[in-house]
Amino acid sequence: MEKTLKIPLSELRTVRLVCNRADCGGVAEMPTDRLDGLTGAVSCPSCGHALMPRTIGSISGLKALGMTLKSLAGEPGFSVEFVLSAPVGHPDV
Ligand SMILES: [Zn+2]
Repeated sequence: MEKTLKIPLSELRTVRLVCNRADCGGVAEMPTDRLDGLTGAVSCPSCGHALMPRTIGSISGLKALGMTLKSLAGEPGFSVEFVLSAPVGHPDV
């Protein structure tokens, strides 16, 4: 059995980038409403590694995500929600 959480798009306010370098795990957080203005890489606050997203077309994936989120937030005919599921009894539910 699962429990689901429905998260409205408007509540997605922060994106976390977790550095995957060995023994690092540094986290860079950014407001979702600023992603569309990103230029270049984000630096890991712990090790300084460039957290460079792949590009989609000619723009970075993070910038594309920001543009997409803003576009969807302005849809007049429907609202977007994200669904998280977890087994009942999961400590986070
Ligand atoms: Zn790092």
